[in-house]
Amino acid sequence: MEELSPPLGQCSFQQLWESNMTPQGPSIPLVATENWSDLDVSINGIHLPPSQLLPDATLHKVFDEVLFELLEPPVVEPSVSTLDSVPPPASTVPSTNDYPGKHGFQLRFQKSGTAKSVTSTYSVQLNKLYCQLAKTCPVEVLMAMDPPPGAILRATAIYKKSEHVSEVVRRCPHHQSASDNNEGVVHRSHLIRVEGSQWAQYLEDGNTKRQSVLLPYEPPQLGSETTTVLLNFMCNSSCMGGMNRRPILTILTLETQEGQVLGRRCFEVRVCACPGRDRKTEEENTNKVLNGTKTTNGSKRKSQQALPPPGTSKKIKNGSSTEVEDKDNVFLLQVRGREHYEWLKKINDSLELMDHIPPAEQEKYKKKGSAKILKQEAMAPKSGKRLLTKEDRSDSD
Ligand SMILES: [Zn+2]
Repeated sequence: MEELSPPLGQCSFQQLWESNMTPQGPSIPLVATENWSDLDVSINGIHLPPSQLLPDATLHKVFDEVLFELLEPPVVEPSVSTLDSVPPPASTVPSTNDYPGKHGFQLRFQKSGTAKSVTSTYSVQLNKLYCQLAKTCPVEVLMAMDPPPGAILRATAIYKKSEHVSEVVRRCPHHQSASDNNEGVVHRSHLIRVEGSQWAQYLEDGNTKRQSVLLPYEPPQLGSETTTVLLNFMCNSSCMGGMNRRPILTILTLETQEGQVLGRRCFEVRVCACPGRDRKTEEENTNKVLNGTKTTNGSKRKSQQALPPPGTSKKIKNGSSTEVEDKDNVFLLQVRGREHYEWLKKINDSLELMDHIPPAEQEKYKKKGSAKILKQEAMAPKSGKRLLTKEDRSDSD
């Protein structure tokens, strides 16, 4: 035993042993003094024939290339593209690009036509939903493949035009504070509501202040291929201090529970008193542009070759189309003095409002309005208001 000790120098056997220990166990040089053929080495339960345990280099190669593949469970690569695996940042301008994703996320709208009585109707041609304030808008969600459990749907509204897009879409102060449609509602400022789901959640992004409504995605019921989501839009597009005639888009996203976007669909929305009429008008105008038919103050009659909008089989009468054209023409009036301008503006605003409110509704407003004004007058009479009150009262009487 003494003859063997010199190579060890001043190290004890214990020290040498420890210096050769790796966290996994003894390194090979130490066992190399043993008889290879007697070795029965197994690592993590896998038996290694002695032929594979020879010199260092070979051994490492075996470990790196073969063993690792054998011993380690395969690394699962996320199949989603890297772009989508990153949680979306709170961007100031949400994307409006349609993106079906791997689940084939799609939307469908019921075919409601353009009848006067319709409260919600969708134009495939314009990818635009026309609806009345607070009325039910069924949106059908269609998926080619089931999303992961816990997936959610999110609806957000943004302004369509780039000059308005940075502004957050909210309800106008009037509709936020009115008692109508607001009983027991915390999310009064939200334009979009989800109807008929107790799981709807109303969120406001802490950074961007953008508001959205979330609801858990439910797979279609037995025998149907779509899930219907009921949306409500709680202001008119014309609401002053709110959308103020600025067109909006609704973004519907399919997301994981963690907020990773799996799919996205966008459509324009116009909230107005006569969805059927407005859809018809806008589709006709688009067709005119597409057909290159110029309309200068109705001097040229609408040509019959203009395509009727989908869902209408009747030909458009010349008379009515000219009427439509005329309504869309904008006239400029120069007014001298702010006072006159303010008066004329009021008259013009009223006329425009009248256009957007069905006669039955107008009556309601008149009744409500006169009751309110009477109260105000009793509290603090103002010269301007009194004049209006008299007119109003004689009107509604
Ligand atoms: Zn409003």
